[in-house]
Amino acid sequence: MEKVIYTPPPDGEIIQESKGRRQVPDKPVIPFIEGDGIGPDIWAAARRVWEAAIAITYKGRREIKWMEILCGEKATASGLPALPPETLEAIRKYRVAIKGPLTTPVGGGLRSLNVSLRQELDLYACVRPVHYYQGTPAPVKQPEKLNVVIFRENTEDVYAGIEWQAGSREAKMLADFVNRELKTPLSSEAGIGIKPITRRNTHRIVKAAIQYALEHQCPSVTLVHKGNIMKYTEGAFRDWGYEIAAQEFGEQTISEKALWEEHQGKLPANRILIKDRIADAMFQQVLLRPDEYSVLATPNLNGDYISDACAAQVGGLGMAPGANIGNGMALFEATHGTAPKYAGQDKVNPGSLLLSGVMMLEYLGWAEAGRAIQTALEKTILSKVVTYDLARQLLGAREVHCSEFADAIIKELSLI
Ligand code: NAP
Repeated sequence: MEKVIYTPPPDGEIIQESKGRRQVPDKPVIPFIEGDGIGPDIWAAARRVWEAAIAITYKGRREIKWMEILCGEKATASGLPALPPETLEAIRKYRVAIKGPLTTPVGGGLRSLNVSLRQELDLYACVRPVHYYQGTPAPVKQPEKLNVVIFRENTEDVYAGIEWQAGSREAKMLADFVNRELKTPLSSEAGIGIKPITRRNTHRIVKAAIQYALEHQCPSVTLVHKGNIMKYTEGAFRDWGYEIAAQEFGEQTISEKALWEEHQGKLPANRILIKDRIADAMFQQVLLRPDEYSVLATPNLNGDYISDACAAQVGGLGMAPGANIGNGMALFEATHGTAPKYAGQDKVNPGSLLLSGVMMLEYLGWAEAGRAIQTALEKTILSKVVTYDLARQLLGAREVHCSEFADAIIKELSLI
């Protein structure tokens, strides 16, 4: 396999982090992975919008210095591994990166490039804001009532990949051990998966969720678990979540129990409410009482389900952004896949990648440019100039290509 050398743009600077504080220069180098399938189409469209918003907002003072890094099909086409070590090094060095969707190679030894990136870089928080943009066709009557940010643990739970096929030697050995040594009946014919959930990893995801809630003045953080059934994994997630809230944020938070026992249900000023909900009830709550929820902290699998369900509620995955965040490092990404049947057709909605870039701008401290994009996107959708996925649900819509959708957003940006 060949090696790859990435050359940063000459006038770009590196984002630094010192004592937990991020220092973002005016011309940061940001590595990007274009992605497979529809990746090049949405990348080209989203990049033009980000650049326009930054130019309009900062009038040349700030600029992103892009540096392409390879992963997925573009890497293998150049004779490189699907996830070259130099790509991981570049993300570690430059601290902030953004990517389009990646095909998972079949039979290539890697389970998923996305999971590998998250695990190799220890990007433990998958952050997915779910916000309704006016004019977007949605399946519920009041989609605007749902406005949540989901913090999904990214590194453990059943996603750790510890599982054995039914009938395999390992599954039989494990069943034998559980029966013989632990005196617990387990069929030797079962496929077996292991669900590890640790105090350390629960603490850090709940801590990230509470810190976000504090920074953004959110009223509550809800721990979403299935602890009534899985007591020592999901139940422990709930207990450790309350534990870290009390240990590190005792002055700024209050548990739902203390709220009722000590404050007659009235939230004291400057406190964030920490509550918990059983996962199945939570799926009802986001539909029936969406405005009672703000930040959700979840183990890996619950987070996977609830973030797609919430995204559907406000109009679908084509518009859902995401970020994978670790200590001093972040990788922003479109949450959908490579939609291979639409590759190269300049057809799909670039909204998911575009809004992931808005999250990136906020992370850089360039929130004004991000807000301008959100406003322009909303105005474009309200004018019913949209890509096929929204057009097919919107009466009187004018369907446009991916690149034309970007043009329309840029036009709205110039009018703000
Ligand atoms: P997908 O690529 O997300 O596509 C499923 C469907 O979602 C598409 O057929 C399309 O629906 C809709 N869709 C996706 N992106 C859209 C966009 N930007 N605008 C409008 N509609 C969009 O899922 P998949 O077909 O199951 O997966 C394909 C490949 O992507 C697989 O190799 C998978 O491993 C990979 N994948 C990667 C990621 C990632 O990189 N984060 C995530 C998921 C999957 P309609 O057909 O109804 O138009």
